[in-house]
Amino acid sequence: MTGKLIVLTGPSGVGKGTLLKALLAKHPELYLSVSATTRSPRVGEVDGVHYYFYDCDRFEAEIAAGSLLEWAEFAGNYYGTPIVPVQAQLDLGRSIILEIELAGARQVAKIFPDALRIFILPPDLQTLEMRIRERGTDSPAAILQRLEQARVEIAAQSEFDYRIVNDDFDTALAELDRLVGSA
Ligand code: 5GP
Repeated sequence: MTGKLIVLTGPSGVGKGTLLKALLAKHPELYLSVSATTRSPRVGEVDGVHYYFYDCDRFEAEIAAGSLLEWAEFAGNYYGTPIVPVQAQLDLGRSIILEIELAGARQVAKIFPDALRIFILPPDLQTLEMRIRERGTDSPAAILQRLEQARVEIAAQSEFDYRIVNDDFDTALAELDRLVGSA
């Protein structure tokens, strides 16, 4: 038996992390993949819990070793999914969720065509920009990169199996819960 691979994608600031936190609180049996990144930790982020924080050399060594299921550059940093925990969960028949950007989601779709791919949308771009700015964690240059990338990702929303608009949080969470439950 193998578990289900679930991919959650959507522009930076759309609230994927908050939705996932609430989903995992309701479903402790779900496993969230911990990504590797070269971006600096934000306040409160813990190495090995929120991300594996690598320097560039380490990340490139992981790429060369083939230990990442997928990886991409996003807003000036590398992000990637370590392959071993994903395979281990699936082999145990457990579902695993990857919270990753568009280029990575496309790579996963090729490797796992049966993955359930969900795209989270903001109500509109102004709301997204406000959320990114209010988070206060990114430099002005990084905010612009994230907004530009948001336009690219939103334009690709039709590639995904399902789309959820994160306008009312509880409604979006209920929809995500339903989709993941039926996977
Ligand atoms: P943040 O810096 O805001 O934590 O993440 C920036 C973007 O990178 C988000 O869209 C997030 O979904 C994406 N991301 C996080 N981990 C991974 C990963 O392992 N692979 C890919 N391709 N994207 C990731």
